[in-house]
Amino acid sequence: MAHHPIKQALVTGGTRGIGEGIARALAQAGYQVTACGLTQDELDRFSPQDSVTTALLDVTNAASVDAVLKDFTSLDVLVNCAGIIQRAGKEFEIDGFRTTIEVNLNGTMRMCLAAQPLLAKAKGSIINTASMLSFFGSAYAPGYAASKGAVAQLTKSLAAAWATDGIRVNAIAPGWIATDLTQPLQDDAARTAAIMARTPLNRWGTPDDLGGVVTFLASDAARFITGTVLPVDGGYLTV
Ligand code: NAD
Repeated sequence: MAHHPIKQALVTGGTRGIGEGIARALAQAGYQVTACGLTQDELDRFSPQDSVTTALLDVTNAASVDAVLKDFTSLDVLVNCAGIIQRAGKEFEIDGFRTTIEVNLNGTMRMCLAAQPLLAKAKGSIINTASMLSFFGSAYAPGYAASKGAVAQLTKSLAAAWATDGIRVNAIAPGWIATDLTQPLQDDAARTAAIMARTPLNRWGTPDDLGGVVTFLASDAARFITGTVLPVDGGYLTV
């Protein structure tokens, strides 16, 4: 009988928020998951789950990336979910702008490059994290919007470049999801009302809303899908 090794998945930003929802869904679907977080405190808060191990990872640091990947012999799924947004004008200063680009865009590319040989071996796939702000601008977070627009274009470019290696590259574009990152918006009644007025499904999304979508994109059911940026937004982009 053919031997089927357990499929391996790695999720950056995988110990809280959207990434945590994705990590738990992939484990549920039968993957062995490495869920990465930036700080020990974040790892300590992660409730243990079968088939999920946690690891420290800073996607802006090449040594940290190498340290996490060195234990893998092949990789079936890379989910790039690490990301930041800086409000209160920080992204209108060049250092703040640069930091957001460094995490969201360069960090995603650093992970893709480092994992490419492992993914080629497994004929695996990458799922990046885009945003509504891949499609339109932000008056508050120009670095975030620029980084997420670029993540969408990076996704299409790597899909084209790595198809011959058997690697599919897709992205999810979450709408407004209730996590730490959007806590200031959830706390702002006027902003929440404006968001809900434009969301046909009329609620905040949850990390669970993304888990099944990523599991699908990683699966054989999506074997002819590459280079897509899939909105998961309760219909926000339709109106
Ligand atoms: P979150 O703040 O809860 O999670 C962010 C994660 O990124 C954390 O796990 C954190 O440790 C990790 N991270 C931050 N800097 C890092 C670094 N330098 N190296 C490694 N990991 C780092 O936020 P979230 O809402 O769960 O966001 C996850 C992703 O989804 C982000 O890319 C975000 O831009 C994107 N997104 C979120 C929303 C939303 O509404 N919440 C919408 C669209 C896209």
